[in-house]
Amino acid sequence: MRGSVHAPRFFSVPLKGHHGHSRDLSPLLQAHRSRALKCAADPIQFQRAIPMGCALEPARPLRSSDLFNEFALSPPLLKAVEALGYTEPTPIQQRAIPVVLEGRDLMAAAQTGTGKTAAFALPLLERLLKNPVQQRAPRALILVPTRELAAQVSDACRVLAKQLPVRGVLIYGGVSPKPQLDSLARGVDLVIATPGRLLDHLESRAVDLSKIEMLVLDEADRMLDMGFIRAIRRIIAALPAQRQSLLFSATFSEEIRTLARSLLRNPVTIDVSPRNAPPELVDHSVYHVDAAAKHPLLTRLIVDGDVRQTLVFTRTKHGANRLAERLQKDGLSVAAIHGNKSQGARTRALDDFKQGRIRVLVATDIAARGLDITELPHVVNFELPHVPEDYVHRIGRTGRAGLRGQAVSLVSRDERDRLRAIEKLLGRPIPVAA
Ligand code: AMP
Repeated sequence: MRGSVHAPRFFSVPLKGHHGHSRDLSPLLQAHRSRALKCAADPIQFQRAIPMGCALEPARPLRSSDLFNEFALSPPLLKAVEALGYTEPTPIQQRAIPVVLEGRDLMAAAQTGTGKTAAFALPLLERLLKNPVQQRAPRALILVPTRELAAQVSDACRVLAKQLPVRGVLIYGGVSPKPQLDSLARGVDLVIATPGRLLDHLESRAVDLSKIEMLVLDEADRMLDMGFIRAIRRIIAALPAQRQSLLFSATFSEEIRTLARSLLRNPVTIDVSPRNAPPELVDHSVYHVDAAAKHPLLTRLIVDGDVRQTLVFTRTKHGANRLAERLQKDGLSVAAIHGNKSQGARTRALDDFKQGRIRVLVATDIAARGLDITELPHVVNFELPHVPEDYVHRIGRTGRAGLRGQAVSLVSRDERDRLRAIEKLLGRPIPVAA
């Protein structure tokens, strides 16, 4: 592989504000350990049949002795895993890593927070390392729906590939294409990209995808929701037919299955997400309240509850801006993130929130999707989502890393039907706050 004689440098385009953030790993490890043990006691999670006409990975009970060094991973990757403090693979990692190392196609149902990034990044990097090839064109492509997720995936890959002679590039819109073009011209092994900008580079022949050996579609359901299907199909058309493909999605809708059928060859299917169930560590409740009283109630909940950090969801970009302005007038430190904000503003807001410089982050569903904010104790649904499944995604932002989270929904009269749809999906009512 090129560059092996030089000090390994993964990303030639460093992303400001997205350098690997330090994390207190002990609660994470505890969470994964307890999750792993719980899953071992609950074989249904691993045996759910998926009517896709593809092989379901045979359920294997999880053992507490399952460790990373039982996978056929090279020492530098094992070292990176150790440096991150991961001792035990999460359920998706246990299932996916051996399958991907074998070179099989994979369809996996797993949400953010399950450790899915390392589940595909570790074996992908291993395969790049094991079969070195001297070429300028990239060998692996990870497609993700949002810039934030692209940055997160690239952070994870950068940390894991620290000791490897693997060169990567992060490609997304809203920023100058020049550094991306420079990296592509110098040659990269791995591309992490959102579909729109990658398609631009493809059309201007700045990127050659004809040597791609491995494709990962991360959060494929969200990519379809965001209308990327045409871009994805055009990108896939530029890839060699002979390749390994992995598809990760929080849900397996009919659309996803159709995409999977056209993309994957005899895939192994893995499902580790107890879908349509709220995360076990989240207390969730609803307040029935007039639309006009939502804002004062939210301020009261934050101020009286002495809430340090809250992620607040609105349905629209306009609603997010308006609410952020109102909260600011109440004296709260707040920022809004949504698709109309520049990449710089989104990155800054997310960083400020992660670093605790702002107390409230107001977000729309798409902007918040995939955000990995550890130790986030509070989520507020200022408005209920259009799509009931988004409720599960939203409240999944809290109660992670083994910490108890709280999710509160402010529901006005005109949202009652939405609430009923969510409760139907969950199979149980959401308690009303006292
Ligand atoms: P993801 O679902 O890929 O967004 O990962 C969620 C979080 O879990 C990230 O902060 C990862 O760093 C962390 N993580 C991933 N795998 C492990 C593991 N095996 N043990 C502990 N933490 C992990």
